[in-house]
Amino acid sequence: MSLGSVQPTTAGAGCSYSSETVVNIVIDLLRCNPCLRALVGMSEPSTLDIFRHSSEAIAGEYDGPETELKETSSHELEGANSDAEVSAVAVEGSAERMTYKSPRLPTPPSSTNKMCPHANGDVPANGTSEMVGIELKPNGVNGTNGVSHTPKLQPQRNPYAPRASDFLNNVSNFKIIESTLREGEQFANAFFDTKTKIAIAKALDSFGVEYLELTSPAASEQSRRDCEAICKLGLKAKILTHIRCHMDDARIAVETGVDGVDVVIGTSSFLREFSHGKDMTYITKTAIEVINFVKSKGIEVRFSTEDSFRSDLVDLLSIYQTVDKIGVNRVGIADTVGCANPRQVYELIRTLRGVVGCDIEVHLHNDTGMAIANAYTALEAGATHIDTSVLGIGERVGITPLGGLVACLYAANPEYVKSKYNLPALRELENLVAEAVEVNVPFMNPITGYCAFTHKAGIHAKAILNNPSTYEILKPEDFGLTRYVSIGHRLTGWNAVKSRVEQLGLKLTDDEIKDATAKIKELADVRTQSMDDVDSLLRVYHSGIQSGELAVGQKEALDRLLKEHRETQTRELAVAA
Ligand SMILES: [Zn+2]
Repeated sequence: MSLGSVQPTTAGAGCSYSSETVVNIVIDLLRCNPCLRALVGMSEPSTLDIFRHSSEAIAGEYDGPETELKETSSHELEGANSDAEVSAVAVEGSAERMTYKSPRLPTPPSSTNKMCPHANGDVPANGTSEMVGIELKPNGVNGTNGVSHTPKLQPQRNPYAPRASDFLNNVSNFKIIESTLREGEQFANAFFDTKTKIAIAKALDSFGVEYLELTSPAASEQSRRDCEAICKLGLKAKILTHIRCHMDDARIAVETGVDGVDVVIGTSSFLREFSHGKDMTYITKTAIEVINFVKSKGIEVRFSTEDSFRSDLVDLLSIYQTVDKIGVNRVGIADTVGCANPRQVYELIRTLRGVVGCDIEVHLHNDTGMAIANAYTALEAGATHIDTSVLGIGERVGITPLGGLVACLYAANPEYVKSKYNLPALRELENLVAEAVEVNVPFMNPITGYCAFTHKAGIHAKAILNNPSTYEILKPEDFGLTRYVSIGHRLTGWNAVKSRVEQLGLKLTDDEIKDATAKIKELADVRTQSMDDVDSLLRVYHSGIQSGELAVGQKEALDRLLKEHRETQTRELAVAA
């Protein structure tokens, strides 16, 4: 295996982790995790020697076997404590030499590194188990997700036991931070007056989202008044507001009655140079000041970087670890420009998960259509909170859409999602927001798109009628919706037509239904038939059979009956007019 095939985080458009950092993280992940080694075809940690050889040019000097690996060049070891939690010095280029604790710097297998259970005396006799247990931090490596608990996970030896990654997975343990009233306000068409904001807030609350995020009260006087009004509604959802990492904004925010404040600042070189112009030293100092101030008011505080995927990984981990230590409730990763792919999201969240004990929120833009996939992957990697907006509205093409995310998570665990959210309320919620911003619900929208539960091909229709699970991963009835089998087209099949015949209460034999289906196909070759057209044809066919004017295969008789029916209809319409 060559290094060339292991450069996932450097491959993304514009994402800028240093190659060396990536190499070190990848090596450490592989060393500690036999499952990952198996995935890339390494049976033993010693295979990493080859990896290290290949990476010399980037990672620095290699001069010995795996157990004597040295961190060189930009990662200078400061020292290691008994837990082998090694402090390293940040890379050159940071304004200050900030220290951070690497969760998985290389250590010999015989050490007591807590991140690597195989090095913890738990190595199975044959040393080839594919299983790995991970020791969680006392404050919860998977995040508390708002609930304090002390996970009791023991290293696994059973090859059929859950994999290491399963312990990080929060697909069935997450919270939604609904940002229609913050990110959604940044949608090109959006203007929410107070009444509309309150209607949306109430609809989101009755759907069951855990948090509502509102525009900063520092944005305008009306924004501040609206924020206060929504805080007074007494909703079940916690109310957050989103502010710049600045004491002036924080002072205004904590006076509005919110349950928490989401603090954000740009850390990418682009934003540091061309937006706010601050360096990491300043950013860290201000973050600590703002977080301590918000905490002193007894409300939640989240610290997020902006444009996280184009920020330096060392800068990110360093500042997140700092704010975690002073007791921030959540740290946030934001794909502000929508550049990340699921693999990059997994790696960054997985790495962050090893560095902080607090909850992890993700905010994912949808510029390349990845927002739902990225959100799902973030949960798999250990994120605890996902930002959404209704229909995904937001800056540019917006963020992870609430409905799409719910569909995705329902597919993974329907019972959990049904127990958390009032799913039948989704359609009205989307209609409310669509109307407020003057757009239509897109035809391909998960769950509520007009064709979301429409089945067309004859072969699909037949199977669906026998058992809906054949072609449906989502049950429409769980969302208060019904499926629709489209039959007025040339791809239709006689089973689907038979189902409609039965719905209409008509008595026809299978041969008669096949005969009628042939006529539907013939007409649909000219133009698609509406359900009304199909129903009329079936009724005419049925009455022809009943009166003896028609029998199977009598095409001319059927054409005559249909013509008479059309003429009668035309006359009735003329009289009515
Ligand atoms: Zn955003």
